[in-house]
Amino acid sequence: MVYCLVKKPTPITGLLLLIILNRAILASLDVPYIIDMGSKLVIALSVAALILLIIWGYHGVLPLLFGIEIGGGMGQVFLVAVWGWNLTVLLSSIISMATGMLGVSIIMNIESEHQQMIEADGESEYVIEVEDVYKDYVVGNIVVHALRGISMRVRRGEFVAIMGPSGSGKSTLLNLIGALDKPTSGKIYIDGVDISKLDEDQLAELRNRKIGFVFQMFNLINRTSVARNVELPSIITRMPKKKRIEKVRKLLSILGLDEDAMKRRPIFLSGGQQQRVAIARALMNDPKIILADEPTGNLDSKTGKEVMEYLKMLNRKLGTTVVVVTHDRSVAMMADRILHIMDGKIIREEYVGDGYGNE
Ligand code: ADP
Ligand code: MG
Repeated sequence: MVYCLVKKPTPITGLLLLIILNRAILASLDVPYIIDMGSKLVIALSVAALILLIIWGYHGVLPLLFGIEIGGGMGQVFLVAVWGWNLTVLLSSIISMATGMLGVSIIMNIESEHQQMIEADGESEYVIEVEDVYKDYVVGNIVVHALRGISMRVRRGEFVAIMGPSGSGKSTLLNLIGALDKPTSGKIYIDGVDISKLDEDQLAELRNRKIGFVFQMFNLINRTSVARNVELPSIITRMPKKKRIEKVRKLLSILGLDEDAMKRRPIFLSGGQQQRVAIARALMNDPKIILADEPTGNLDSKTGKEVMEYLKMLNRKLGTTVVVVTHDRSVAMMADRILHIMDGKIIREEYVGDGYGNE
């Protein structure tokens, strides 16, 4: 707590301290019983809010508290009117109304800034734009040039495959697009937002709300049920419970998994089923983009094709933009467009079908 107040003072912790101080003065004076009680309650609530703020970060406690401040201040004005003129109570009520309103406005500002940062214009035709991106990995005194000047764009609702031999930089590129890592140089725009401008919290928010990841190894949690695995991303975004459960059911049924499979732990399902669970999980927050890194790499070719069919269906039906990394030509052929990558560069672009998503 001391750490938070001293090292990371924010306007909100400052305001909370002001509330506590204001009410402490009031509580220590000879004021009517009800004001005294109210002050003690507000002190207790503010201390609780400070502690919660430190443990959880901002979690909705504060708007309530600042709301109480505004209400409390108005209550005091009323009491002054009833009980007669009292300078301390009057000053305290003005301070509490002002701090309450200031607090609410700070919170509203933080919220809207947060939204604005990850919610760009939405006008741009491209949901992914990569501009001259380089990525070096430094291992000891060796520098690996994983990406050497990649530029690419993906339209909304497009299905793109990135193909290339092992070590050509496919995963590196996908991780950068997914904001899991930062480029050494160059720019990446997701949904029109320059992601180099976002801080860690905003990046986490962007990943959670806009991007669904699917990996070769499925990355499911085997300690818990399939349903719970799928539900997880929506718990983080605080989706209401009822909606969560409905959505889990709907997604799993779209992906051909029944009630029985829902209750099992992922480890007891086949590889193809596990990958479909991972896709359902990736879809839980209605992402605009699905990024899949060798999603069929651990599956036999028939099951792999099936998983790709599901991705394709979601792309067509929900309009989700899909980027699939693969080194398998038959997998890549299911996309609208294939980007061939070699030694960290795009060497060729290939349109599949008529280039409009029809085969
Ligand atoms: P692909 O997915 O196409 O197989 P990667 O993107 O994984 O290729 O890797 C591209 C190059 O970058 C390879 O030479 C790989 O060894 C190197 N590389 C990838 N990740 C790292 C890392 N975290 N540290 C060092 N080198 C890495
Ligand atoms: Mg890879």
